Amino acid sequence: MMGDMRIDLHTHSAVSDGTDTPEQLVRHAALAGLEVIALTDHDTIDGIAAAQAAGRAEGVRVIAGLELSTELDGHSVHLLAYGTRPDDAELSAELVLLRESRSGRVEAFAGRLTELGMEITAAEIWQAAGSAPSVGRPHVADAMVSRGYVADRNEAFAQWLGDDKPAYVTRYATALGRAIDLVHGAGGAAVIAHPWGRGSREVLTTEVLTRLVRDHGLDGIEVDHEDHDERDRKELARLATGLGLVATGSSDHHGVGKVDHPLGVNVTHEAALEHLLRIITTRGGLPG
Ligand code: AMP
Ligand code: ZN
Ligand code: FE
Ligand code: FE
Repeated sequence: MMGDMRIDLHTHSAVSDGTDTPEQLVRHAALAGLEVIALTDHDTIDGIAAAQAAGRAEGVRVIAGLELSTELDGHSVHLLAYGTRPDDAELSAELVLLRESRSGRVEAFAGRLTELGMEITAAEIWQAAGSAPSVGRPHVADAMVSRGYVADRNEAFAQWLGDDKPAYVTRYATALGRAIDLVHGAGGAAVIAHPWGRGSREVLTTEVLTRLVRDHGLDGIEVDHEDHDERDRKELARLATGLGLVATGSSDHHGVGKVDHPLGVNVTHEAALEHLLRIITTRGGLPG
């Protein structure tokens, strides 16, 4: 008898700040018993083609996704996009802006850390990023680990790189409402990632989510995520039902970069995936 389909809709590869290549990620997904994954790298879709090719070989369905860096009233909000057309000009242009802003702050991180007594060069951060087109703080953390300044990414964020820590450097993010519109314009479905993770419960209130549904047609929210405790998950699930939002679950896997987020640790119900795929098909996106 077939078991319930295992679906993980939020994963990262080394094309952004995960540690698996897209091919390794798909292989690990197959080993974890997942039938469907979405690859959702930060501000880039560069890994999708390779992941989908590997998915065909491994028997894993790979939904095209990405995780957009957005902001609401100056607070960082991550927006998952599914099924967007890769050739959409407006979304592609916005992704270029986001990645340029990521690249542009590498030098600033090197300067700030050096000021703080941890000598590090931009070249070392770029080396940690490898060929990733989307460079981020986890790569800065990896460079710090290489120098022996911290033991791992977690320590780097907790002491230095976190949003309220001394080595934090800001960057450009798309306004959340506009980001949802861009995703829809590219045929995709827009789902807010870990809405109540890391203090964002005060930002993404019921009123705000209600307004995003009304004014921008937000499609869903991530409910089952390691950043949410049982109570958060219950409340978010109730909110999703009340607002007609698709509720998803995921690992937010980053390979060995976040050991507490193994593939499949949270999963999405088959009915929720079908709902998302209907939305994508209706909008003219790519259900994958
Ligand atoms: P950035 O994209 O440069 O703003 O960096 C933020 C990213 O760092 C997030 O999307 C997470 O993937 C990752 N991150 C945040 N906190 C931690 C942590 N404590 N340990 C490892 N990675 C983290
Ligand atoms: Zn990440
Ligand atoms: Fe995120
Ligand atoms: Fe993520």
